[in-house]
Amino acid sequence: MAQDALFERLWNGTAQMEEWTAAVSAGAITPVAENIIAVHTTYFCGSVTVIRTDAGLVFIDTAKPDTASQTLARVRTWDDSPVHTVIYTHGHIDHTSGIQVIDAEADARGIPRPRIIAHRNVRRRMDRYEASHGFNSIVQGQQFNKPGYVYPIGQRRPDEVYDDTLSLTIGGEQIDLFHGRGETDDATFVWLPRRRVLASGDFVIWVFPNAGNPRKVQRYAADWAVALRRMELLKPEVLIPGHGPVIFGEGRAAQVLRDGAEALEHLTRETLRLMNKGATLDQILHTVKAPSKYLEKPYLLPKYDDPEFLVRGIYHRDAGWFDGNPAHLKPARNADLASELARLAGGADKLAERAAILSEEGQTRLAAHLAEFAGAAAPKDERIQAIRAAVLQKCIDGETSLMGKAFFAVYQREARRMG
Ligand SMILES: [Zn+2]
Repeated sequence: MAQDALFERLWNGTAQMEEWTAAVSAGAITPVAENIIAVHTTYFCGSVTVIRTDAGLVFIDTAKPDTASQTLARVRTWDDSPVHTVIYTHGHIDHTSGIQVIDAEADARGIPRPRIIAHRNVRRRMDRYEASHGFNSIVQGQQFNKPGYVYPIGQRRPDEVYDDTLSLTIGGEQIDLFHGRGETDDATFVWLPRRRVLASGDFVIWVFPNAGNPRKVQRYAADWAVALRRMELLKPEVLIPGHGPVIFGEGRAAQVLRDGAEALEHLTRETLRLMNKGATLDQILHTVKAPSKYLEKPYLLPKYDDPEFLVRGIYHRDAGWFDGNPAHLKPARNADLASELARLAGGADKLAERAAILSEEGQTRLAAHLAEFAGAAAPKDERIQAIRAAVLQKCIDGETSLMGKAFFAVYQREARRMG
C-alpha cells in the first residue's frame, strides 16, 4: 500500500497535522489491507479500524459523539454487515463514546448490539469518571478552553474483559489483544498476526507521548516504553496509530516504535538515576531533558504534552507528592505568603513590576512566580492583574505543548476577569 503525498510531507516534517485534519474532515477511509480499513475525521478523534470477517464487522474503537455518525456512515459505504464485536483500546471518550451510534443502528435494524471487549480496567475507569464527574468536566473544559463543558459519561461497558493477553478468532480472523500501561492503565493494542497489522491505540499518537498531563490521574511512561518494545518485536508491516495517519512499511513502523520507546526510556532512566542519588524534584526538573534528536521527529513533537510534565509523572509515581522542600510539607496559605513577600518587597506592585521586567528579559518562569504572588497579594488591583495577564501571555508564547499553553491560559483568563 503506497503512502500519499501528504503523508510523505508529514513524515519528513514539511506538513503539519492540521493539514491532515483538514484533508480527512469529511471522513476518510484508508485501505489498510484486504478487508481492513481505518477511518479518520480529525486528528483529535481516535482512529477507528474496521475488520471485515465472516461473522460480521469488528471495530477497534468507535470515535466520539461529534464524529461517530460520520465515521459509521463512511464504514457503511464500504460494508453493510452487522457489527459483531467492538474492542475499546482504552476508556477515553474519543475511543469509546461512539458506541451509542453503533448501538442505535443495531436497535434500528432490530439486530443484537455488538459485544464489547476491553481490558478489565476500562470498567474501573468508567466508574471513576462517574465519581469525579464534576472535576473531569472542569479539567477537560480548561484543557480545551470550553467553559461549561460536561464530560460525557454513561458509555456502554465491556461485556468481556481480559487481563494480559487475549486471542480471539472471529469469523476466521485471528485478532490478538495485548495489555500495556501508558497514557492509561487500561490500554490494549491489537495485533492481526496473519496480516502483520498493528492497531496501537494511543501508544502511538504522532506527538510526544502524553504521559505527563498536569491534571490527570497517574500515567506510566516506563510501562509505555515496555509496550512499544513489545510492539516492535511483532515486526508490524502496517501501524495504525491511535491518532493520525496510518504508517505503512516495516522499517517506518519499527522506527516510530523504537524512537518513542527510546525517548521514554531516557526520561525514565535519568529521572530515576537522580532520584536514587537523593535529588529533589526541583533538581530533577531542571536537569532531565528529552534529547532533541527525538523531539525533532515529526511523530514525537512536544505539541500536546511536554517532556517536563512526564518527568514529574515519573517522579510522582515512585516518590509520592512531596517535592523535598520542607516549606511545602505543611505550607502556609498562599495568600499569606504572597502578602508577606509583598510587604518585604515594598508592595505588591513592586513584585508585579519586577515580574514584568523578568518576563521581558525572557525569564518567564521567575516572572510567573512573582506575578502570581503579586496577584494573590492584591487580587483586586487592576494594574497588577493586567501585568499578571501579560506575563502569562509570555509564558503561553514560550510553550510548544497544548497542555502548557492551555493551563497558563486558564489563569490568564482569570487575571483578565479580576483586572
Ligand atoms: Zn485518544
